[in-house]
Amino acid sequence: MEVQRNVPLKKHTTFQIGGPANYFLAARNKEELIEALNFAKEKGVAPLIIGGGSNLLISDKGYGGVAIKVQNAEIEIEGENVLAGAGLLLSSLVKRSFEKNLSGMEWAAGIPGTIGGAVAGNAGAFNGEMADSVERVEAYDIKAGKIIDMTREECRFGYRSSIFKNNSNLVILSAALKLEEGSGDNILQKIEANLQYRREKHPKEPSAGSCFKNISVEELPEGFFDKFPETKESVRNGILPAAFLIHSCGLKGEKIGSAQVSSVHPNFIVNLNGASAGDVLELISFVKKKIEEKYGLKLQEEIKILDNNS
Ligand SMILES: Cc1cc2nc3c(=O)[nH]c(=O)nc-3n(C[C@H](O)[C@H](O)[C@H](O)COP(=O)(O)OP(=O)(O)OC[C@H]3O[C@@H](n4cnc5c(N)ncnc54)[C@H](O)[C@@H]3O)c2cc1C
Repeated sequence: MEVQRNVPLKKHTTFQIGGPANYFLAARNKEELIEALNFAKEKGVAPLIIGGGSNLLISDKGYGGVAIKVQNAEIEIEGENVLAGAGLLLSSLVKRSFEKNLSGMEWAAGIPGTIGGAVAGNAGAFNGEMADSVERVEAYDIKAGKIIDMTREECRFGYRSSIFKNNSNLVILSAALKLEEGSGDNILQKIEANLQYRREKHPKEPSAGSCFKNISVEELPEGFFDKFPETKESVRNGILPAAFLIHSCGLKGEKIGSAQVSSVHPNFIVNLNGASAGDVLELISFVKKKIEEKYGLKLQEEIKILDNNS
């Protein structure tokens, strides 16, 4: 496996933002992924794991350690059981499942990430999420230097989170999923409807998807809806959308440098043309400040920010 130096990470993120990685390795199979992780261990640094780079904001100064691009994209399907390499694109999984008349992954159509990134962040949309289908995860425990097999419960899935999200010691190698036999026509219809929704409602400019987590109604302070009755009608499935709060603060289209709160979907921050990570971070702070001033709520980022040295 080739060890590359000073590779611009903006080429590997959908935000098209990110300075150079000191070391960069692309792992095309499980063995190479483990070799790359051991290379980082020898260098004494935590690796930066990149799947599709579609949920990541990387500092303009880049990453001083070892960045590893996960590309082990094997897939095996037996009946309703799917074994997918961490580097398999969600779009490939959606396509292959449809070809086998397997239902359960339609919600993921149009999400530009990998299985590893989707499991780590428990990606979800249209009332579906990764945790619904994951049976087991094969992970590499860097400290122990061994492969471990984890049950769904051990993955500790939560809303856009899992044990992997903030644990740089555990790297997902593959995931075993259980899907359900379905009708090809129904599966295709759902996939097309979801893709159509994304084409209409999501911005075209580079981004990392939804920037902030939605807020569960259960987490709201007592009396919130008495104080802000206008927010109540935006609640869907027990969730107060961050997009509604941002929109209602008049922040749609707000710009700092070349970063903008999308005028199409206010929970997306987009890179208009050459935005820096600094622009995006300033805009994130600005949005959070405005939401806190108006509603007394602290928005939390859904995107993973790597800003260790900027
Ligand atoms: C236009 C657009 C629309 C989107 N829509 C949605 C949506 O509807 N729902 C949704 O949930 N998300 C959405 N996203 C965000 C993103 O695509 C998903 O969260 C996706 O699952 C991230 O996968 P990734 O491979 O790109 O992860 P990356 O961005 O590469 O990584 C994200 C995090 O996961 C970690 N990670 C990646 N691979 C591994 C691994 N193998 N082992 C351990 N950790 C790993 C990374 O280190 C990082 O911390 C959208 C993004 C865009 C740009």
